[in-house]
Amino acid sequence: MSPTTTPPAAAASKADGLHMLNVSHAFGDDTVVSGVSVFVEPGELVCLLGPSGCGKTTLLRLAAGLEDLQVGRITIGEDTVADGQGGKQMPPEKRNVGLMFQDFALFPHLTVYENIVFGLSEKDKARRAWARETLSTMGLGGYADAFPHTLSGGQQQRVALLRALAPAPRVLLLDEPFSGLDVNRRAQIRQDTFQILSRSGIATLMVTHDPEEAMFMADRILVMQNGRIIQSGTPVDIYFRPQSAFVAELFGPVNRLDCRVENGALDSALGRFPANDLAEGTEAQVLIRPEALSLSQSTTEGDILLTVLTARSLGRSTHLTLGLKDDGAGPLFNARMPGVFLPEIGSQVSARVAPESVLIFPKSDA
Ligand code: ADP
Ligand code: MG
Repeated sequence: MSPTTTPPAAAASKADGLHMLNVSHAFGDDTVVSGVSVFVEPGELVCLLGPSGCGKTTLLRLAAGLEDLQVGRITIGEDTVADGQGGKQMPPEKRNVGLMFQDFALFPHLTVYENIVFGLSEKDKARRAWARETLSTMGLGGYADAFPHTLSGGQQQRVALLRALAPAPRVLLLDEPFSGLDVNRRAQIRQDTFQILSRSGIATLMVTHDPEEAMFMADRILVMQNGRIIQSGTPVDIYFRPQSAFVAELFGPVNRLDCRVENGALDSALGRFPANDLAEGTEAQVLIRPEALSLSQSTTEGDILLTVLTARSLGRSTHLTLGLKDDGAGPLFNARMPGVFLPEIGSQVSARVAPESVLIFPKSDA
């Protein structure tokens, strides 16, 4: 689909929110979700972001009714669909939830159109018409009678999304929906999916371990670690105001410097930074993202000088590793400079850090 194609009309027949209240879950003695609350309002896309094994899929399966709820309550619109206390468990097919998992296999022996209307009754003329219309608005009109194997990965992904939306589900649950796609196509497919969903008015809960994907897709991100939500906020909050080193490091490796608060400041090898609200004497860590370290080949008196150990052009940016001493002994720093910046290996560059991009945490949070 080209970016200019008009996205399909609303998929949801009525807008409902998904509320998961204080949900916990254990497999045997192993608690994998602890006291998690998730609210997704109609028209909102919320991402659960966290490393593999932190409990994301389990939460989606609980919402879908594929796992029985042990503790907490789940409502969709006005309806309680599962109650850990009362033991109520509405079966998955009654919840009217759209699901798309990572390995969204299409039925190979059914055509594209048949795949999409698979869950619809013969009599559901309106949704069948929706399926036809949406296929063509998504640039797949010519493929209605084709078999899935003749489609590209990205086209198959769109068909799977339409299959999930076809029954006009009350909420949509997506588990790593782009992970099977090759990197080059992902950005476009993500964009297409974003457009379809933002027009649908549906409450969507999406799981991913890819922070950039979460940043692109989400209205709000819930960061999970070991079965708990440790921070929630807009993509900008999560990236620029992480509340722990763990959240900061979700977006890739950062430069870490250990320092102690003295006279209200942290004196690090990369400069002196205000200690914010940390008490005098606190052992702290200063985190600086590679892109927050700005380097220059023209040096003047008083600059912080680093020795270039490696410099590799990645096309759009240059990745450098730097050492404090001439011989590169001591801590290593990573920097990412925009464009081409290839100083000679072994030469000295001056380093500057924008104070607003320095992240400071007490050391205990590591
Ligand atoms: P994520 O989707 O974040 O990678 P999961 O929700 O799949 O994490 O898994 C969370 C934890 O629960 C993991 O330690 C996983 O091994 C465990 N787990 C998931 N499903 C089961 C199951 N059916 N039986 C036992 N343990 C499970
Ligand atoms: Mg998972």
